[in-house]
Order: sequence, then structure tokens, then C-alpha cells
Amino acid sequence: LKEMNARSVWHPMAHPADCQANPPTIVTGAQGVRITDVDGHEVVDGVGGLWNVNLGFSCQPIKDAITAQLDRLPYYSIFRGTTNDAVIQLAEELRDFFEPDGLSRAFFTSGGSDSVETSLRLARQYHKIRGEAGRVKFLSLKKGYHGTHFGGASVNGNANFRTAYEPLLAGCHHIPAPYTYRNPFNETDPERLAQLCLSALEDEIAFQGANTIAAFIMEPVLGAGGVIPPHESFMPGVRDICSRHGILLIADEVITAFGRTGSWSGSRHWGVQPDMMCTAKAITNGYFPFGAVMIAEQVAQVFESDETGRAAIGHGYTYSGHPVGAAAAIACLAETIRLDVPTNAAARGAQLHDGFKSLMEKYDLIGDVRGGEGMMTAMELVSDRSSKTPIDKATIGKIQEETYRAGAMVRVSGPNIILSPPLILSEDEASIILSALDAGFASVS
Ligand code: PMP
Repeated sequence: LKEMNARSVWHPMAHPADCQANPPTIVTGAQGVRITDVDGHEVVDGVGGLWNVNLGFSCQPIKDAITAQLDRLPYYSIFRGTTNDAVIQLAEELRDFFEPDGLSRAFFTSGGSDSVETSLRLARQYHKIRGEAGRVKFLSLKKGYHGTHFGGASVNGNANFRTAYEPLLAGCHHIPAPYTYRNPFNETDPERLAQLCLSALEDEIAFQGANTIAAFIMEPVLGAGGVIPPHESFMPGVRDICSRHGILLIADEVITAFGRTGSWSGSRHWGVQPDMMCTAKAITNGYFPFGAVMIAEQVAQVFESDETGRAAIGHGYTYSGHPVGAAAAIACLAETIRLDVPTNAAARGAQLHDGFKSLMEKYDLIGDVRGGEGMMTAMELVSDRSSKTPIDKATIGKIQEETYRAGAMVRVSGPNIILSPPLILSEDEASIILSALDAGFASVS
């Protein structure tokens, strides 16, 4: 398998030479919150698949729903003249679930990048239909991650994900993220930093001209960029600015929806109602590629207002509303609610965050610890705390490897070690992750 992998599989986001030098772990099985590799090694999955397996790998109701749906109706499209009963039921349930977020309609997709693309396209259409065709630009946060389609890549805040694909969508601008450890203002107070970032947003809008901007897209807690939760004043501030300038607010909740932040959605966590919300990942617990863009009633109504609106959409996927994905999502939503996953996410998230802080007291390599808003936590590693020089790849790689050997899979993203375990993680399992990390750090200290 290792040899075949090296010669045949092109790994996403990885340089082929890095894959050769550092072959990936070949996962062959998973149960509960544990994964097993090809060598028979079993570890606690601190990554939760890829931030998506919120309910663990043994979710029988989802498995049953998928097999029953496969027996009954394995596929039928929802393009124009047809639909399927599974997707209708799901849309109704999502409508109830996201009612407190002010979102009533679901546009179905096949994953996170599709959801982002859909939201950007709908945002442009929305303004065009309303007679504001000049509103075409998008604003987003530096360090934000919004997937890999050309639209999503254009709003990605990390230049590494953009430069190879330029020229990208014109008119995308990125404003400083409320990232206390490193920011252009040298501001370490989260509340003051939030205000500075909001002023930067206002300045950018004034510079571009509000009537040229379609939407602002943001993750309620920046995920892949290194788990950066903003001060509580930030997202409400963004909501206010967008409303004042007629700019749509798109919440990219591909990671944060369905409990990860310790609330049912990231927007609800900060008390904000977005105009659109991108979801995917945990919507099926990773069991089926699926996503939904949830849309506010007032936005949906614009599309339904006249013939122009209806004719203008021209967007959708063969797998929009796939019945097997819908069946998986219905069962997943029911389990997510039954298990009240945000409560455990908040408790175990706090345990992991406290554990990170203790490790920071012990190891100088840890420059910053972030998260604690539910079960997404990160530590940023530096070779020197005062200069904040990012850690080298070899050292962080060794820590990851030794942590794995000691019993836990953790994610490395640049200089960050990130945790996003299944939200059903127990106290003992959280402790296993922390002691494995301790062993990982001990190996390089
Ligand atoms: N948006 C966010 C916030 C994400 O974290 C991701 C994936 N990590 C995406 C979009 C893209 O999702 P996908 O990989 O399913 O296309």
C-alpha cells in the first residue's frame, strides 16, 4: 500500500516530495473516536477526520439511514422538473434547526467549496436582481480559508492558496484578522484589536465604494488559518457594518456549524444572523460528501420576486440534494440534537484548552494557545518566544510523529498544532490526547 500510494495517489494540499519524505499514515479502520492504521496502531483521533466526524466513526443511525436510502432511492436529481422526498424532509429540518439564525432556505451542494462558491454566486445575483449590478466585489479576512474553487480561492485570506492560481476573481480584498498574536497593529488586547479590524473594514469599504461590494465572507472562528476566535464584539460589529452598507454577510460555517464552537452554530455563538451560511463537513458526520447553503428569507424572496429573479439563477450541481446525502444528514442532525453535542464540545474544549496552557508553561516552543470556544483549539509553535520566529518543519513534524506514537493523531498546519476531535470525546480520551502531546514535546526538548 505504501508503494502504491507513493506512485499513484496525488495528495491534496501536499507537495509530492514531502509525501515521499514523510509518507502519510494509512488509515484502515475506525471505531468511536479511534482510528487504526495499516500497521495495527490504534490512536485517538484528535482531528475528527477533517473537522467533520463530530459524532465519531460508529454512528449506527447514520449508517442505517444510508443503507435504507440506498435500498429505496439511491439517486434522483432536484434539477428543475424533479426532486426527491429525502431532500424535502431534510430542508424542513434544517429550516427548524437554523430558525434562530434567521435562515429558512437550503441550497444543497456536495461539500464546503461548493457551498462557498454557491454563496458568492448567489450574492452577485442577489444584487443584480435588485438593480445593483455594480456590487460585484467580495471582502474577507486575512487568514480565512474558504475552499478551493476559483471564487473561494479568491476570497481566501492566505496568499499561499492564491498565488499559484492568479489571476483570480477581480475585486477581492482581504482585511486584517483579529489575531492577537500577530497583527499589523501590534495590538494584544482582543477587544481593542477587534475595533481596529472593524475600522479597517470600514476603511476598505470607503476606499472601494460600498456600492461596489456584494458580500463580506468570514468564518465565525477562523479554522484552517490556525483557530483564531475573535473578541465577542467582532462578528456583531461586522454584521452592523454590512447592514449599514447593504453588503451581504456570508458566514462560512463549514467547520463551525452543528456544535463545534459549543453552540449550535458559530453565528449563534456570537449572536449574529448572517444573510447566508455555508455548511458542509459535519452535516453528514463525514459519511457522505454533502453541503448546504442556508439562506435568509429576505434574501430568498429577492430571487422569487419576479421572472428575472427566477430565470437568473443558473447554478447547481448534479449532486445537489443527493438523497443518500440527505438521508445521512437527517439522521446526523437527529443524533447531533439527541446527544446535545455543543455541551460536551464546550466542556472537553475547555479541558483541551487548559491542557494546552499547562503544556505552554512546560515547553518554551509553544508561543501561543488559542481556542477554547468549543472543540477547536490550536497552539502556535515558535523557535524563540521573544522574536516569535515560527518553528521549523522538521521539529513540528517530529512532535506530531511522536504524539502519534504515544496515542493521538493531531493536525499540523504551518506552525500550528490543531485539535478538532469528534464532539463526543470523553474526558479520558481528551486526557490521552494531552499526554500524547506531552510525550511529543518531550521528544524534542
Ligand atoms: N470553508 C471552510 C471554512 C473550510 O474549513 C473548508 C475546508 N476545510 C472549506 C470551506 C472547503 O470545504 P471542502 O474541503 O469540503 O471543499
